[in-house]
Amino acid sequence: MTVIEARPHHRFEAAGRPFVYLADSASVFGLDDAAEAVLAALAGGRCSRDELAERLTPVCPAEALDETLAELERVRAIAPVVPTETRPDRPKKVFPLTPFPVSTTVINVTNQCNLGCTYCYEYGDDRIVDTGRNGAPKFMTEETARQSVDFALRESGSNPVAHITFFGGETLLNFRVLKKTVAYARERAAMLGKGVDFSLTTNATLLTDEIIEFLAENEIGVTVSMDGPRDLQNRFRVFHDGRGSYDVVAPKVKALLARHRSRPIGARVTLTAGVLDVRRIYRHLTEEIGFHEVGFAPVTSKDARAWAIDGTGMERVLAEFRALALEWLEAVAAGRHHGFSNVRETLQEIHQGMSKAYPCGAGLGLVGVSTDGQVALCHRFAGSDAHRIGSVDTGIDRVAQREFLERHHIDDKPDCQSCFARPLCAGGCYHEAHTRYGDTTHANLHFCRWVRGWTDVCLRVYAELAERNPAVLARFETTGAAEPVS
Ligand code: SF4
Ligand code: SF4
Repeated sequence: MTVIEARPHHRFEAAGRPFVYLADSASVFGLDDAAEAVLAALAGGRCSRDELAERLTPVCPAEALDETLAELERVRAIAPVVPTETRPDRPKKVFPLTPFPVSTTVINVTNQCNLGCTYCYEYGDDRIVDTGRNGAPKFMTEETARQSVDFALRESGSNPVAHITFFGGETLLNFRVLKKTVAYARERAAMLGKGVDFSLTTNATLLTDEIIEFLAENEIGVTVSMDGPRDLQNRFRVFHDGRGSYDVVAPKVKALLARHRSRPIGARVTLTAGVLDVRRIYRHLTEEIGFHEVGFAPVTSKDARAWAIDGTGMERVLAEFRALALEWLEAVAAGRHHGFSNVRETLQEIHQGMSKAYPCGAGLGLVGVSTDGQVALCHRFAGSDAHRIGSVDTGIDRVAQREFLERHHIDDKPDCQSCFARPLCAGGCYHEAHTRYGDTTHANLHFCRWVRGWTDVCLRVYAELAERNPAVLARFETTGAAEPVS
């Protein structure tokens, strides 16, 4: 007799009716009474078709049950339990076809910063330390920057556009090289018949009229690291002498937003203990400063740090995110813009049916280049020999990349296999895992409760939007370049 089990899923309510998100097919379905009853019955454990028929007779006559079971199996909500002795070999892990094109090359033009943000991974104890090369230079040279551009264009393969992101340290400390690099990249890309697109992340303290003009003229995408109103910004985002940076940053960002209109400019907020007031921060950054979008990320930190967010703090972040996501829903359903980028990004992934074998593009579509031209998994690992996968002159080390992909595949994270949030989370950030567990292959289990809570919020918003204004979802059908936001 066939025994049936439910596959990992999450049932939730939206627009007054039940839905389910299925991990195996990474899809959302509305549930009718019979399907809901079957999943509810299987929540108590596996059972046979006849046991189900007996329990569900009042809701679901026998013929309807078989139809429902067939449909649920087709969408991979349920599956027959295969006895161990007849179980076929576990399917082989599916790897991306390589050489996989690099869509985004993050060039760390400096590892220096004129701020001394207390929580910064670059200078804190959690920093990935270079153990093998006596440290990379403080500033990238023009020569290495040109090689990095050649690398980005070459490794972008058949992609029509190579995305280059400048990162640091504080990128504008090396504006001279950055400016020359943009000109060189345009020239080289034109010779190769390719497009090239630029963005950068900055703390905004060094913006001048000349730099703003350059960014605007060159249509360079800008993300500003900023934590909110004066009291919150000044808590951790301080100069080396301890002075808060708000009064320097705010007017410069306003000048940037007034001049640079060709691309939406976003803020990136690091949430820390005591800086958790997401909605107040959002309102300040959009309404008083004028940012188009704001994205939030909890600080990466070991538990003992003063700025680490504890369990209660993460519950607060979730409650704040939920409230802001509902504001986003009301605005977007009514055809208005709302700049809470975390919800937009997750809804885009849900809508595209994304099922990740890896949590992010690091080491695959996105790589980080250190100031001496070594290529690492991403910008956060730039400069670390242990996470190096090539160099700008020799290209991606395909053996190292393959070894990385094999060791980090979602199928090798046992804790994640029964988790409904697996298609979207895939174990979480490697850098976070390295900081927490000293091991990039480790799933970020300290975040599971938060990830599942946030995924639930986004699923409800998604289903509600699908009912109220499905046309909005069509905008989620294209994927942009991978962006380093942290
Ligand atoms: S890290 Fe946690 S939330 Fe993420 S997929 Fe694994 S078990 Fe799920
Ligand atoms: S999620 Fe983590 S590992 Fe991935 S690109 Fe971002 S910082 Fe790097």
